[in-house]
Amino acid sequence: MQYAYSKTFARQQDKADELSHFRNMFHIPQHQGRDVHYFTGNSLGLQPKIAKELVLEEFDAWAEYGVEGHFEGKRPWFHYHKFTKGMMARIVGALASEVVVMNSLTVNLHLLMVSFYRPTQQRFKIITEAGAFPSDQYALETQVRFHGFDPDEAIIELAPRAGEHLLRTEDILETIDRHGEQLALVMMGGVQYFTGQLFDMKTITDAGHAAGATVGFDLAHAAGNVPLQLHDWNVDFAVWCTYKYLNSGPGNLAGAYVHQRYANDPSLPRFAGWWGYNEQQRFMMRKGFVPMLGADGWQLSNVNVLSAAAVMASMEVLHKVDPRKLRRKSLALTGYAEYLINTLVAKTGAKARIITPENPEERGCQLSLAIEEQGNKVFEQLTHHGIVVDWREGNLADGRPGVIRLAPVPLYNTFADVYEFAVKLEAALT
Ligand SMILES: *Cc1c(COP(=O)(O)O)cnc(C)c1O
Repeated sequence: MQYAYSKTFARQQDKADELSHFRNMFHIPQHQGRDVHYFTGNSLGLQPKIAKELVLEEFDAWAEYGVEGHFEGKRPWFHYHKFTKGMMARIVGALASEVVVMNSLTVNLHLLMVSFYRPTQQRFKIITEAGAFPSDQYALETQVRFHGFDPDEAIIELAPRAGEHLLRTEDILETIDRHGEQLALVMMGGVQYFTGQLFDMKTITDAGHAAGATVGFDLAHAAGNVPLQLHDWNVDFAVWCTYKYLNSGPGNLAGAYVHQRYANDPSLPRFAGWWGYNEQQRFMMRKGFVPMLGADGWQLSNVNVLSAAAVMASMEVLHKVDPRKLRRKSLALTGYAEYLINTLVAKTGAKARIITPENPEERGCQLSLAIEEQGNKVFEQLTHHGIVVDWREGNLADGRPGVIRLAPVPLYNTFADVYEFAVKLEAALT
């Protein structure tokens, strides 16, 4: 695509955009009486206008039916987790039975590690990315300790080569190969939250399996952002939150995926609760846990319906969009942001550089812009002008630069948003 550094160009792109009407389905936060330019959908997605309506429907059902709401009303609560299943499965490229919405991301990570991290004296290591999101680090560390192993020995962190910011697939594969016999699990992000790097999940899964390990991914920054084929890639398990690119509201319920080959595997250990119990006999309250088939068998508690209603709203919006068109727009929009940033950096000689992969196949919509000097000042100026991005401090010890992360989200961001960002960034950098 031929880009141009002009407002007219940006406006023409918005006019020609066949997905532009989706923006109207969201509430856009305001800054001094105008829509902000919102680039933090990677952190908290915007609110779909129908979210409140769907949540209120459940308040009404509760008022009208009381406990009977479990079986009465438009969406009986007993079955509520099933209403989002099909659409969520489409988003991650799985069968409906492989997916369930429940708990929160970190809780689901722990639950699935109970089943899929089963270390032995011979095979106990976990490969993960260095600088993983803190919650993931703590989950891995404490799981390892729970099994009586030493995290320093058991957790192998993949770090970029000296002077680089991204992981090379060849290095990931080499590390898997090197620890092969001792490797119990490969567990890493699908899209790295700091750099925006999209990993080759299929290749990593194949390599992990070849080494005799299980493979899981944290898709917090991938679900709703990049095309996923968990089932076909043979991924063993995955978890993700729904409040980033899936727009379901702060801290809302999370997704969990378990490959079909485990749907009916009684040998898997798990931490169970009554909602994972075979639904036909759940209310007989019998002794002895008999799981539901598939991902549903990992549920613990009855559905948090008020929260699930907001997930439902998110799914209804996403259901209306053709995922291929969404990805196409995403590539164009993020490509435009990249073009503008690179152009203005070349023009001004600013000490700033995008560290996210240049290859569009190796990223989603997020770009991470490393700023050498006074990045937080740049960030503050952008904020002052109604540009919502985030600033992550660097870490000198491991060579991490401070970055501004921006995520032009194709569902609600416009080319004009991206253009305004560039204009304000140029002003802030000079
Ligand atoms: C956002 C995010 C989380 C957040 O975990 P919660 O349990 O939802 O608080 C965890 N891991 C990664 C990689 C994330 O991006």
